[in-house]
Amino acid sequence: MKRLQAFKFELMPNGEQQRQMRRFAGSCRFVYNKALALQKERHERGETKLGYVEMAKQLTAWRSSAETAWLKEAPVHPLQQALKDLERAYSNFFAKRSDFPRFKKKGQSDSFRYPDPKQIKLDQSNARIFLPKLGWLRYRNSREVLGEIRNATVSCRAGRWFVSIQTEREVEQPIPQGGAVGIDMGVVRFATLSDGAFVEPLGSFKRHERALRRAQQSLSRKVKHSRNWRKAKIRVQRLHARIANVRADFLHKLSSAISKNHAVVCMEDLQVRNMSKSAAGTLEQPGRNVRAKAGLNKAILDQGWYEFRRQLDYKLAWRGGCLVLVAPQYTSQTCPRCGHVSADNRQTQACFACAACGLENNADVVGAINILSRGMQQLRDEGRDTLHACSGMAQAVSPDGLWIESRLGSQAGTRRSEPGVDPCHA
Ligand SMILES: [Zn+2]
Repeated sequence: MKRLQAFKFELMPNGEQQRQMRRFAGSCRFVYNKALALQKERHERGETKLGYVEMAKQLTAWRSSAETAWLKEAPVHPLQQALKDLERAYSNFFAKRSDFPRFKKKGQSDSFRYPDPKQIKLDQSNARIFLPKLGWLRYRNSREVLGEIRNATVSCRAGRWFVSIQTEREVEQPIPQGGAVGIDMGVVRFATLSDGAFVEPLGSFKRHERALRRAQQSLSRKVKHSRNWRKAKIRVQRLHARIANVRADFLHKLSSAISKNHAVVCMEDLQVRNMSKSAAGTLEQPGRNVRAKAGLNKAILDQGWYEFRRQLDYKLAWRGGCLVLVAPQYTSQTCPRCGHVSADNRQTQACFACAACGLENNADVVGAINILSRGMQQLRDEGRDTLHACSGMAQAVSPDGLWIESRLGSQAGTRRSEPGVDPCHA
């Protein structure tokens, strides 16, 4: 099977290269915004949206017009790529996967991509990469790049430059290891597994929040664009980058541990985007519990649920396993023993007690068990439970199909609920 993988390194550009990269990122942003403005104007006049080919013709015109002739200094492929990015933003919007494309601002994810592998040269033994119009760039070589290069993306974060090299290679079809598990995502516990193990939230943002707030206050007191203002701005950007690094590290370790030990992972198909949308509502329909929801929204974004799910998805696929998304309705109110569905089953946030059969357990664990059995049902319905990809799970499912042997153990900071302790009355 083919495996796509990205290898990211910090670049060590010289002064001229840094200036060039800033210029190229700016040119790409300019092209993106100009194309977006053009599409918006056309829309207001009732005209149809231009396709990529027509847009690329516009780009050629901009590059040869006297007003924007400086666009010629930037490599043409990354500029075209900016148009493709806009195309994708539009199709994501039409497919309801994201909001309407927005104009890009300077300093917000400055990046540009070289889509043509023929123009990229990688010299790993000397830790340098050749990119059009930039020449040879040195990078911090932290690991070997495997596979054939597909493209390279240059990006800037908190004043440091990075290159992400995407490759493709043929790997042997792996045999998935381990059984099936259901995961319930939450705010109090980041993730609860159907076997009772759970992961505490990281809350990296909370930990750095005070430092960030102080840095932002100090920034707001400075005279804009002054020397001290610039210094304070860099401090704020560094804190943001630090938070993102800690969070990425947490999510990667956890998703690696879970995907290594399970062939099938079931999760709720939550629309994270909708959940994290403004809780204020509209004029006609003012939002309820705005304050509580704002806290929850922040927590959701802070935790990076979506990113966690994305990582699990590709890491499971790498190992021959699969991620199963199930409908989230009533997973927290259904009794996994007798099937009784009622809000009364959920007396408190933390405790599940079935009003019909009396089963008691931690509410998150019950949610995870329900998610698992739904996922397994879904696989059976699709006839996929016999597939090679999910072959590892059969032996792990106990006769009643509920209790699953997990081999996650104490890896990646998970904890196991004390056996025999009643979570509702402990
Ligand atoms: Zn019951």
